[in-house]
Amino acid sequence: CGIVGYLGDRPAYPMLIQGLRRLEYRGYDSAGVALVHENGTLDVFKSKGKVADLERATQGQDVSGTIGIAHTRWATHGEPNDANAHPHYSQSKTLAIIHNGIIENYNVLREMLRNHDYTFQSDTDTEVLVQLIEYIKQTNHCDLCTAVQLALHEVVGAYAIAVIEKENPDLIVAARKSSPLVIGIRGNERFLASDATPIIEHTKEVVYLNDEEVAVIRRNEPLQVVSLDNVVKPLHIKMLEMN
Ligand code: GLU
Repeated sequence: CGIVGYLGDRPAYPMLIQGLRRLEYRGYDSAGVALVHENGTLDVFKSKGKVADLERATQGQDVSGTIGIAHTRWATHGEPNDANAHPHYSQSKTLAIIHNGIIENYNVLREMLRNHDYTFQSDTDTEVLVQLIEYIKQTNHCDLCTAVQLALHEVVGAYAIAVIEKENPDLIVAARKSSPLVIGIRGNERFLASDATPIIEHTKEVVYLNDEEVAVIRRNEPLQVVSLDNVVKPLHIKMLEMN
């Protein structure tokens, strides 16, 4: 299973697909990608099966966005099928999430959300998290980063996540706890992945996120890493070694 993300001045899709292939060795049963376009649309393409099946699902579609997230799934909650594949939309389809790991208390959270008229399109624990982020964002009138921080305070479990939002082609919010996540930096380009294998062909400058850290990846701004309580963390940039 794996996570890939890109925000920069080139189309994200080729890097995302190539990145998913680099992560294939980790094993997976489904694959998917979400892109935000300049015109403010947020599209999700996903499929049970191999990365090649995902590529078939995107044939003839507009995949020109310069920001996107992509995922290979190793099912833990919900069988491997198209609906359970990531990315998952929030209810209003304004957010999309990818997630590796397990949200252990998803049942309690899902009940709470059902009581607030949320319905679910999948059997995954992951969909509960993106709905929770949307619920918090709407009830608190806060930005995406704050909503992610508040939601993660409610979560018991393991996660590497990345979230993007419609009408915002300039932001990826990513976070991790007990599942790995690395960010690559090259000029104004940002690369996100479960490990360095999809990143090394693009840059040697990386930041490894620590547990319960949130990366705020904004277009044309320095990478920022904050705690769940929004304390700014010092950036520890590492140089990858060439083999
Ligand atoms: N628990 C999530 C699911 O079953 C994520 C699995 C993964 O790590 O790929 O969809």
